[in-house]
Amino acid sequence: MKKTPAVFLDRDGTINHEKGYLSDEKDLQLYPYVSKSILSLQKAGFKIVIITNQSGIERGYFTEKKLAVIHKTLLKMLKEVGVKIDGIYYCPHGIDDVCECRKPKIGMAKQAEKELNIDLKKSYVVGDSIRDYKMGYNFRGKGILVLTGHGKKQAKNIKNEKQKPLAVSKNLYEAVKVIINDYKKN
Ligand SMILES: [Zn+2]
Repeated sequence: MKKTPAVFLDRDGTINHEKGYLSDEKDLQLYPYVSKSILSLQKAGFKIVIITNQSGIERGYFTEKKLAVIHKTLLKMLKEVGVKIDGIYYCPHGIDDVCECRKPKIGMAKQAEKELNIDLKKSYVVGDSIRDYKMGYNFRGKGILVLTGHGKKQAKNIKNEKQKPLAVSKNLYEAVKVIINDYKKN
């Protein structure tokens, strides 16, 4: 079976408003351009996978059971705006845990590669954190930083990073335009 490229999307601050360790599905609020962004990517041939660091679990702010409810609600909200995504993966560990899944590590992408038959070298990550775009380069794809969520603050620190993002985009919709253009070129 032919491998498919994917766009890995960070969750908080990228597709829904950043609420700081979101622990209740009632706090989920999608950005208005999420539907058209994801639909454009799917039309261009990308699978869509959400990847999210959820250290709030390790910190005891909420349980994995609660996170499952939050993600079920998120999928339902996406469905209501006409979007069906291919997968959602999370890292429940804390910053001091030794794990392979916490972004910018690539464990979640490797799992998706296997389970969803993804071509990582042709894939992208979009997120509001430096560790998001770095994950893309760590799996030999590419990454974009968006200025929503923590993005504006994060953008100031890019100068200290050896690895720069493919682009710094105003929001997910602008990032999608960059991805589709870049993908056509390669
Ligand atoms: Zn982890």
